[in-house]
Amino acid sequence: MEEYDVIIVGAGPAGLTAGIYAGREGLKSLIIEKNVKGGNANTAPVILNYPGFNSIPGLELLKKIGKQAEKYIEIRESEEVLEVQKNNKKLLLTTNKAKYSTTAIIFCSGTTYRKLGVKGETEFVGKGISYCSICDGMLFKDREVIVVGGGNSAAEHALHLHDIGVNVKIIHRRDALRAQDYLIKKIDDEGIPILWNTVLTEIEGDMFVKSVKIHNRKTGEDDVLKVNGIFIAVGENPNSKIASELGVEINSNNYIITDKYYKTNMDGVFAAGDITGGVNQLIVSCGEGAAAAVNAYDYVKQVE
Ligand code: NAP
Repeated sequence: MEEYDVIIVGAGPAGLTAGIYAGREGLKSLIIEKNVKGGNANTAPVILNYPGFNSIPGLELLKKIGKQAEKYIEIRESEEVLEVQKNNKKLLLTTNKAKYSTTAIIFCSGTTYRKLGVKGETEFVGKGISYCSICDGMLFKDREVIVVGGGNSAAEHALHLHDIGVNVKIIHRRDALRAQDYLIKKIDDEGIPILWNTVLTEIEGDMFVKSVKIHNRKTGEDDVLKVNGIFIAVGENPNSKIASELGVEINSNNYIITDKYYKTNMDGVFAAGDITGGVNQLIVSCGEGAAAAVNAYDYVKQVE
């Protein structure tokens, strides 16, 4: 069994930054990531509020952070943590590839895009349904696309798709967007149509998406809309199950509860980034990752 001082679960902004700090502090440390480095931030079309960059695509920024992290810490991608158990002062991790023992763990496992739960959604992922306009947007240039949702992500996807020449409409279940005002104004200025009080009830197609069934919650009318693509942006669910099974306290929305040192209710167990809830801002996740690693260092030195 490989032994570490600290293992970081997840290689998004929080995990990568925690890794930079843990590695530079001289801790024997490792990041385990079930997919690839970057996390959900990879899918942000453009980031306008990360200090030092006026405007940068999420993928590009996270590539830079990932490269910097690799200078200090090993990152194992495509490896999934299945279970963490407490054994006296050690934490034992089981992944789909190996077993590890560590003194401290930092959960930076972020969130997973929420699904709509309608017929056709699972079937057409990658065949017209996408969660990432920066990855897949160009496939739909000059074609008909809908964005589902009314938050910042939906607004940003719609604006990006519009910018690259996609014919985009927003479908939102209420009569007001919850996105920030500057995004709402931009959507208005660009004339992006919004179907208000409308929910998607079914996705239809053959090899690819061809149409969606929609329902207006106010008028009660049903309709069919011919579309080539659907970008779903209806929020996120925290990936806190493994932590919760270990005994880490979570709140009623399944976010991990930490104190101001990013320590959970369990000794040696820290959490940082979107998994802790809060404002969901990249810079905040990075800051939390850094703070968690500094505090994990103190813990490791105390225990060892
Ligand atoms: P969000 O803010 O939670 O918004 C989700 C949207 O989807 C809401 O408009 C919600 O409708 C709608 N929705 C939820 N479930 C639905 C369902 N089953 N069917 C139809 N619509 C549904 O999620 P997000 O936009 O992904 O953002 C997540 C977090 O990241 C937020 O804290 C956000 O501020 C942050 N973020 C920030 C930036 C930025 O700072 N530029 C960019 C992206 C994301 P209701 O409005 O009716 O609830």
